[in-house]
Amino acid sequence: MLKLKSVSKFYYNKGIIASGFTKINLELKMGEFIAITGESGSGKSTLLNVISGLDSYEEGEMYINDQETSHYTEKDFEEYRRKYIANIFQSFNLINSYTVYQNVELVLLLNGYKKRDVKNKILDIIEQVGLTKFKHTKVSKLSGGQKQRVAIARAMVKDTPIIVADEPTGNLDTESAKEVIEILKKVAKNKLVVVVTHNIEQIEPYATRIIKMHDGRIVENTEIKPIKEEITVEESKYNKITIANKYRLGIRNTFNIVTKFLLLFAVFFFITSALFLEYASFQLSEYEIEKNGYNMAFRDLSENRIIIKKQDKTPFSQQDYQAIKKLTNIDYIVEDDLFLDANISVSKDDMSFYGNVQDLENFRGNLDIGRMPENDNEMIVKISKQHYYIKSRIEEVLNKTFRINGNNEVSKEQKIDIVGIQYNEEDNNYDAKFYLASSVIENLRSEINKQYSDMKLLFDGKYIPNSVLPSEKVEKGTAIVYDDLRYQMTSGNIRNKTIQIEVNNIYYQETLNLKIKNTYTKSNFKKMTGYEEYDNYRVAIFINNEEYNAIYNKPSYQSSIFVEDSQTIEETIQSLNELGIKAKKVTDYKVTTNGEIFTKIIKIIKLIVTIVLIFVLFFISYFIIRIILKSRNIYYTTLRMLGATYKSVRRILDIELFLNSTLAYAGILVFIKLIDMGIVSFDYGAKLIGFLSIREYIMMYVILIVMARLISRRFSKKLFKNTAINTYNEEV
Ligand code: ADP
Ligand code: MG
Repeated sequence: MLKLKSVSKFYYNKGIIASGFTKINLELKMGEFIAITGESGSGKSTLLNVISGLDSYEEGEMYINDQETSHYTEKDFEEYRRKYIANIFQSFNLINSYTVYQNVELVLLLNGYKKRDVKNKILDIIEQVGLTKFKHTKVSKLSGGQKQRVAIARAMVKDTPIIVADEPTGNLDTESAKEVIEILKKVAKNKLVVVVTHNIEQIEPYATRIIKMHDGRIVENTEIKPIKEEITVEESKYNKITIANKYRLGIRNTFNIVTKFLLLFAVFFFITSALFLEYASFQLSEYEIEKNGYNMAFRDLSENRIIIKKQDKTPFSQQDYQAIKKLTNIDYIVEDDLFLDANISVSKDDMSFYGNVQDLENFRGNLDIGRMPENDNEMIVKISKQHYYIKSRIEEVLNKTFRINGNNEVSKEQKIDIVGIQYNEEDNNYDAKFYLASSVIENLRSEINKQYSDMKLLFDGKYIPNSVLPSEKVEKGTAIVYDDLRYQMTSGNIRNKTIQIEVNNIYYQETLNLKIKNTYTKSNFKKMTGYEEYDNYRVAIFINNEEYNAIYNKPSYQSSIFVEDSQTIEETIQSLNELGIKAKKVTDYKVTTNGEIFTKIIKIIKLIVTIVLIFVLFFISYFIIRIILKSRNIYYTTLRMLGATYKSVRRILDIELFLNSTLAYAGILVFIKLIDMGIVSFDYGAKLIGFLSIREYIMMYVILIVMARLISRRFSKKLFKNTAINTYNEEV
């Protein structure tokens, strides 16, 4: 059956050559039960590995059924192993997470048998090794002797002509060892069995031949019982593994180790959520830039709004407004329209709405929720129904008190209740319109005007960077400054020095010369200025509040008209022109160029960042998954030893990672749904959800499973780089 002619095995290890065994001549026949002994390191395991095609040899010739094997490729040996060899190891090499039944079944599934065809055969063999009671017990729960009996059952079920056992009793107590040897003997009938053992007395009664090795050579080769009859070799029958079996094993492996499943799940979950977050964040900023760039100057882009200016660049007078009101199609005029376009925030706790201010008088239509304001401390808001706070937290909005702030760092806070809401038709525009009483707008106006103006302070020939605040306590024509300002002077007394305030905006320039009347320190701050918190204003300049307001409350150079019917807006513009007024629809002020360029840049950055992120995530997750799967190396090398080909191992792993990543993806979808429903609170995430389309969800899934597949490919390639025994040794 097997013949070795002067076969030598060398190990090459970092330039050092070690000898496994040298010039072995040996002939092994069917029906023999051969015991090999010898001290540790004498080459017994090496010999068994070469015989069973798990390892290559370097010199001489090994014949299998009189056929030379020196030209055999790894694939040829794979086939040889499948047809002829069943291995039993000292360390069992079982799949610990499988049951006894599954371990025995595994070798048949890998060799193309159908699950339902092999059930009786497996149960029969489990019975023969005396493990029927444990057939559905996980192997990890068995004793050493029981484990080795499972290994024998696995070797039996494959029904190969040769069984090779390397110290099968090495890890067992005497009693179990005896049982194992007895079972082996039963199995050995009509086969060729080669057993390496330290315990020759135990095997001797059954052995037909005893071989002793020393220092890589055979020093004794004694036949105890001659083989009388010639036994024909019957190759083990096998087929390619069926697709159903690959899926069966893939699915079994996905779930059989819970921690591994959860770790892989977490990695895939992390990859997907990182990609989703990154991508949607870009979509959001794209949207924001597009929107802002669309029109930098005007936030209120109503169809029926016209921006007007005097042709002679002078401010509007009340007569002008009267004349305009007499035209047809005029709904209302907003004289000082800057506040329409100022960005205002209305906030409370962790909630903020952004938008622009409208006069309550100009509210049109009906409310969808709540009621109209009854006093000046109440407001209504027009906003998209899809806005997160409106959709999910409306009870925290309605009839609750909010703060109104301009963007100015020293703007005064106003407290106001939201009592009513009108939905905006534009679902994906989250900007609000805040309808406020005229008196509230009046208070905001100087703050807003300030935003659009540039103020400079000239003191003692230098510009100083301090802020100016209004105070009723300061006399007209004077200013009260912080005491330390004196150190900014070159000479003289700070009192009666002049401070010059210059205000510039696109319409006018205004200069105010004020005498410094006094300076303040912490102790007299409140008395002099009327403000409470010294710490907030320790370097401010206080001026008379009427003078302060007068700098900003100039007659308007630009106003807005809202028409009743936007269809005939061109005719209204025509009639305005006839009055000597420059008029243009607000939507004609599109300053699109900036926005378009920014959006393009953002799109390119998004693409680059996404690709880089995919690469980074791929390598991070490959690294982590390799560590997770490392504990599985034994599993895969065992599959290999049982006759699984590279292709089928890869496929089984493919299926496992595919399943796991798909489940992780489903987990993400559930998570997103929970965020959307407000059950999981993650405001930023909730905001992003609207920025992903079905197409992008599908793309993300495709990216994930492609990544899972690449990881599986890389991993299995590494696994098969070496001969089976080397990979096994490396990993054990
Ligand atoms: P035994 O099984 O009889 O204890 P082995 O077959 O394991 O002996 O080892 C035979 C010789 O080959 C020993 O000298 C051992 O050091 C060497 N050897 C075994 N495996 C390797 C290996 N992977 N790399 C280098 N040398 C090896
Ligand atoms: Mg050994």
